[in-house]
Amino acid sequence: MSENEHANTGYDEWLDAIEDGNAYYLECSNGHGSLPPRRICPECGEIGLEETPLPETGTIDTYTVVHVAAPSFADDAPYTTAIADFGPVRVTAMAPDDVAVGDTVSLTIGESKTNGDRLLLFERR
Ligand SMILES: [Zn+2]
Repeated sequence: MSENEHANTGYDEWLDAIEDGNAYYLECSNGHGSLPPRRICPECGEIGLEETPLPETGTIDTYTVVHVAAPSFADDAPYTTAIADFGPVRVTAMAPDDVAVGDTVSLTIGESKTNGDRLLLFERR
């Protein structure tokens, strides 16, 4: 399970960075964007991804309301998850219930009502 530990470590560091207002994405030398905890470019397989500042705002591409959640989100349901286009990367996060396609959002950190865990959250700008 050491592979998973590594993955979770990278993800926690990423949440810390977002919380500190230093959100970033990973970019390979070919300009492909991806998100932590990746270590290899999903498009071209390059290793050695560069942390690059995430654009401050993205645009909601699509969203969906989750009524039946996984156990780890049971008390959060129903909730809305959305995908926002930040240019080089697309990010999936929880979103306000009245979110609409085309809304401008920024990425922030919220808290799960189920277990208090930190989670990704879109905030309307
Ligand atoms: Zn690449």
